[in-house]
Amino acid sequence: MVDGIDERFAEQVRALLQPPTPLQVQEYYHNLLTERQIRGLKVKQNVETGKGVYADLDFAEEDVVLKDQMLFGIQHSYNKMDCFVCSFCFRFIGSIEIQIGKQLYFQSLGISMDIEDHNGTCSHASKASCWSNSSDDEGTVGAGDSDSSEGCAPSILGEINPLPIEVVESLMNGELRLPLSGKFALPSVVPCPGDCGEAYYCSESCAKADWESFHSLLCIGINSKSLCRQALKQFVEHANETNDIFLLAAKAIAFTILRYKKFKPAHCEEIKDSAVSTSTNLSVLLEAWKPISMGHKKGWWNCIGEPDDISKLERKELALTSLQFLREAMFDEEFGALFTLEIYGHIIGMFELNNLDLIVESPVEDYIQFITDLPDQKKKEVEKDIRPVLNALGEDYTNLCRGTAFYPLQSCMNHSCCPNTKAFKREEDRDGLATVIASRLIHKGEEITISYINEDLPYEERQELLADYNFTCKCSKCVRDQSHTDV
Ligand SMILES: [Zn+2]
Ligand SMILES: [Zn+2]
Ligand SMILES: [Zn+2]
Repeated sequence: MVDGIDERFAEQVRALLQPPTPLQVQEYYHNLLTERQIRGLKVKQNVETGKGVYADLDFAEEDVVLKDQMLFGIQHSYNKMDCFVCSFCFRFIGSIEIQIGKQLYFQSLGISMDIEDHNGTCSHASKASCWSNSSDDEGTVGAGDSDSSEGCAPSILGEINPLPIEVVESLMNGELRLPLSGKFALPSVVPCPGDCGEAYYCSESCAKADWESFHSLLCIGINSKSLCRQALKQFVEHANETNDIFLLAAKAIAFTILRYKKFKPAHCEEIKDSAVSTSTNLSVLLEAWKPISMGHKKGWWNCIGEPDDISKLERKELALTSLQFLREAMFDEEFGALFTLEIYGHIIGMFELNNLDLIVESPVEDYIQFITDLPDQKKKEVEKDIRPVLNALGEDYTNLCRGTAFYPLQSCMNHSCCPNTKAFKREEDRDGLATVIASRLIHKGEEITISYINEDLPYEERQELLADYNFTCKCSKCVRDQSHTDV
């Protein structure tokens, strides 16, 4: 597949895909840890094993080792109908009534979708099983309480019995209040400053941060900074229909462009050169690209993983179609390399190798549980108001916000089949941060490890799954299991 833009920017692409030196790695992560005031961790680059995260103090079992702020994340497209969350931090927003109202509204339109229907098309997160602390592999992995993954089936819910649309609307617009919902107050909804009607936030600060980091270029509203809103709309539609990982890749590109524009003036000032040269542009671009340069990459078409039912060529074609819409929406000669298929494919490949499932538990589940657990007398009092709503919801309502995200520090953690930490959301972790908890005592100096796969699988199956990450695991469990196999 010959693509003119790829040929023209071949040299820049090579520079962007050059892996960082150990010194650059050390510097970048040192600054990141300092900036975020994270104590007790160090990132080191080792010639054989690559990057790794090390304990810089002792951690007791159950200690929080890291709360990692994502660099890029999205809520899956199909999940947006069921969970209304902040587009930047992924907290649930609005109110219990809005959450339930929206879900019933989409349910009434018949377009609320079940996750099972989407396994083939939704974007894929390789380290998905990290969130699960058990061996069941239902896809419902998760956060907090052990029984939360059971599809939330409190006995109070019965047969589905739809509510009249007026009632659903009054839930969404706040006219109808549900009993005792005030105990589960959520942040009020802040709309996108670009007025797109697509992005909503929990606060002005999230709205601002998203606008400045990504959304100003990706917004389809009237204040959008993109070149062509129509192309952007087509881009989003295409991603929603095929693979929403493209939306995440677009975020990475927008992020780099916005950083580039921010760094450029200072850079030109510094060199006091009236004729700004191509090499200056490239060095600004490399600086803007740095956070992405740190992630381990390979081309999407060379990754094994979902969707596995399409060929290399089909993947390339799919990515090129998507990229062409994006080029129309925001191409600029100055940082043209970001719009090459090579870079696009490598960004998606990086997500494929490093992303974690983004999961946030819904307050609706807490609310229903709370109502279920009320003393009989109190329950009788609220029954008349709540019963029709519960009947309309049915038993299988979606109770988790689901997406995929790239975490800069967590993605540096190496795998072990007997890891000393687990990615695990506690009851109070109700946003998009990745939480990594010590699963045993960890001494200062020890490497922090996590399992990318279900570590309870037999040796052969583990090695097969880990081959996707290009390595043969030599953790103590694998060494032991292998010697058993050899005997
Ligand atoms: Zn927020
Ligand atoms: Zn917007
Ligand atoms: Zn192993």
